[in-house]
Amino acid sequence: MRFALINDKPTEAMPGLVDAVCPGCGASVIAKCGTQKIHHWAHKNIRMCDS
Ligand SMILES: [Zn+2]
Repeated sequence: MRFALINDKPTEAMPGLVDAVCPGCGASVIAKCGTQKIHHWAHKNIRMCDS
């Protein structure tokens, strides 16, 4: 996803950001910031939601 919530504010993924949650399900998400893909957030666990 493009945005995750940090302190209830939609935030774009950037390296080093922590404590972000999915706006859809409230699960913890981590920033994926490789060089091949655009920066995005992904759920820490496998489960996906319908955001
Ligand atoms: Zn979610």
